[in-house]
Amino acid sequence: MSQPRTARPPDTAPPRWSADAVLAVLGLFLPVDCAWCGRADRALCDACHLLVAQRPPRVRLVAGVRTDAAFEYEGLVRTLLLEVKLRSRVDLAPPLARRFGALVRRALAEAPADSLLLRVPPSTRGARRRGFDPVVLFLRRGRAPVGRALVRARGARSSGQKELGATDRVAATVGTLRAVGVAGRTVVLVDDVVTTGVTLAEAVRAVRDAGGTVVRCVTVASVED
Ligand SMILES: [Zn+2]
Repeated sequence: MSQPRTARPPDTAPPRWSADAVLAVLGLFLPVDCAWCGRADRALCDACHLLVAQRPPRVRLVAGVRTDAAFEYEGLVRTLLLEVKLRSRVDLAPPLARRFGALVRRALAEAPADSLLLRVPPSTRGARRRGFDPVVLFLRRGRAPVGRALVRARGARSSGQKELGATDRVAATVGTLRAVGVAGRTVVLVDDVVTTGVTLAEAVRAVRDAGGTVVRCVTVASVED
């Protein structure tokens, strides 16, 4: 029998703390449960990290523009995004931000040089309540600077649309956004969730009306029909 390969001489350096071990010890003092499965571990346990990574990305067409969504808006992804948005759980941002950031970087790499990266403005009510913008948070982690040349048109309201039918919703949305300084520029649009696509389509319209061209939209998640 040969000596087991794990045997070490007694005078080796003490084992270095792995990141996992440090987090496990911190967890004793700052106990958190996994946001999805509830396991007493950390913000998102390894098994649930893997589940996020296994969720496929989505591609759809909005106003004739290819729209890359990092994830479908359902289950685990929906819960994580809501925790970030509504409860400011920035510790849950990385698993979503990683893929979203990669899609944004790819969109910019494939777009003409000097393309603008523009945020579809969030509803003012939601933004006020949160005090931060999850999309900007995600992009900061990916080091992609995001512009704000898209603004809500004066007097435009985004609330009260849930009761409207699809046609009325489109009609009520047209003209709610305005783009400035995009004439002759190519644009990549970013948003958190694309649902019906009405808001994103309005952003595409606003850029076109101001003389720009939207070459790609990228969202964190997409609600599938
Ligand atoms: Zn878990």
